[in-house]
Amino acid sequence: VAIDIGGTKIDVAAVAASGEILRRERMATVGHEDLFAAVVTLARRLDFPDAQVIGVGCGGPMSMRTRTVSPLNIRQWRDFPLTSELAAAFSLPVFVDNDAKALALAEGTFGLAQGLDDFLSMVVSTGVGGGIVLDGRLLDGRDGNAGHIGHVVVVPDGRLCACGAHGCLEAEIAGPSIAAITGAPAEQADLDQRRRAGALLGLAVGTVASLLDLGNCFVAGSVALGFGAPFFDAANESAHRVARIAHARDVTIQPSGLGGDGPLLGAAVVGWRGAQGE
Ligand SMILES: [Zn+2]
Repeated sequence: VAIDIGGTKIDVAAVAASGEILRRERMATVGHEDLFAAVVTLARRLDFPDAQVIGVGCGGPMSMRTRTVSPLNIRQWRDFPLTSELAAAFSLPVFVDNDAKALALAEGTFGLAQGLDDFLSMVVSTGVGGGIVLDGRLLDGRDGNAGHIGHVVVVPDGRLCACGAHGCLEAEIAGPSIAAITGAPAEQADLDQRRRAGALLGLAVGTVASLLDLGNCFVAGSVALGFGAPFFDAANESAHRVARIAHARDVTIQPSGLGGDGPLLGAAVVGWRGAQGE
């Protein structure tokens, strides 16, 4: 059972080992008196007695140490013990990871990063997230939060971010940030705004490429994919401006090879990865 928990919507699905999505359900994240109880009800609707493991991709940050989540976009969950609550509700092994890290796992298993040992996977939608695979392994970091590229500062003294800093990539190019800057929904952003968002993303990616010696970045999410070629062209130009050192100058930023099912597939891989590690 795969569960993708975002700030806007929550998807659940029964996923076969082949990556085939057998059944799925969706609900909005907001408007529930008890969000966790609503998630349990939604997952029960899958009615899938053969499930072996539950994998979850959840908005960050999280704590692997305490097995809690505190998604920036879900204010009622702070240090919420999602893993133990789900395990108690379903009597199955449960593995929870950051949603952008889950997407990196999906890109490596089912998407364009198949066969690559080193890449950055990103999502630009309600928030901006990332997951890093280096030397063939998804990076976790001290407490599970490696890859939070959305909180790399790209505009010194820029817009205030939900994390408390100013000028984070997320505060400048996430959908709500663009809406706040332009006064209109992100999908109505003009060419200049699309290019600006791409250029800022490229700044962050070029920096990461220099730092980590990786050459590929795959970007998913409604904002990035909706902005299309102007966004990706500007991102690559910008990355190549900042990544001049030999090992990073060929870094390529391209749209994710995963369709809309990427987050659910990622959550499924989180479950399988966890089950293999046990
Ligand atoms: Zn931030």
